[in-house]
Amino acid sequence: MKEITARLLAWYDRHARKLPWRGSADPYQIWVSEIMLQQTRTETVAGYYARFLEAFPTVQDLAAAEESAVLKQWEGLGYYARARNLQAGAKQVMTEFGGKVPSGVEDLLKIRGIGPYTAGAIASIAWNLPVPAVDGNVIRVISRLYAIGESLGEPGTRTRIETLAKELVPESRPGDYNQAVMDLGATVCVPGTPDCDRCPLEDLCRGRRTGAAAELPKIPGAKPPKEMLYDLILIYDGKRVLARKRTEKMLSGLWCFPLMKGWESAEARKAELRRRWGMEMKTFRAVGTAKHVFTHQVWQMTLYEGELREPAQAPEGYAWIDGEELETLAWPVAMKMALIPVRRRLSDGQ
Ligand code: SF4
Repeated sequence: MKEITARLLAWYDRHARKLPWRGSADPYQIWVSEIMLQQTRTETVAGYYARFLEAFPTVQDLAAAEESAVLKQWEGLGYYARARNLQAGAKQVMTEFGGKVPSGVEDLLKIRGIGPYTAGAIASIAWNLPVPAVDGNVIRVISRLYAIGESLGEPGTRTRIETLAKELVPESRPGDYNQAVMDLGATVCVPGTPDCDRCPLEDLCRGRRTGAAAELPKIPGAKPPKEMLYDLILIYDGKRVLARKRTEKMLSGLWCFPLMKGWESAEARKAELRRRWGMEMKTFRAVGTAKHVFTHQVWQMTLYEGELREPAQAPEGYAWIDGEELETLAWPVAMKMALIPVRRRLSDGQ
């Protein structure tokens, strides 16, 4: 085991990825980077990370910010519960930990949005504690290194991997070691076919020796995301468009255009707008389709746009948004396709 950690650290010294949060020992900055990196590509996070810290340089700033300002900074990163939890966690740090991000894993785990992986990353990188940070990369590297062929769905497999991960963390440079495994998993021991020829652990790796590496880890069959059919309706009143701030758990606090379940004809939707909101449309037509894939759902959307015959009050929960306001609100990526014609329309004022 000592040989594995020594080789990984030596490899890390030469091949560490240059990332904006590397080199920081500030627990708040590491926390922000780790939350952003969950389910999001490193390249995408890099730009967001710098802007986010510029807007909220300290845990105090984040705790005191308006939720809408936090969501605006997070706009486009997806999985918005992360942003809300991060802010809730910052508030907790202010009230329960005297404004200082705690060092121990146990205390870190009490903070909203911080799970075992993030707690391990903060404790080892910021506070130099010899604890593991087990994410998908670590699971993959260890499964291959020890040729663990049991499915991750079977009881005991994950525990075995976590035990090995714990034993591998060295007393000195634990943060660098954890980041070395993350980098190895992201650049060499990648999902699918690993690049073993470039790996510092090649001659120590059982998965490599047995030829099983590419099939490891054994992941139990994941459920396919549920397909949801919607009509997304862009309703214009001159230079304004109808939208609402979502209150549902999914995408809560973000803005969306009217989303109606099912795929219906233009005539049926027009009739529904009349019946539901008393809106008479001067024009109404389908303008395209859009698709957005979430972890558990796929939204298949038909885009309609229509112009009101005469001004109408926004229905309850909705608001009329002009071109300027549109840019100040936080929109989920699922609205990206719809925002293209809306921006064009509101800026032209057609
Ligand atoms: S030798 Fe190959 S399979 Fe083993 S840890 Fe290195 S890259 Fe992964």
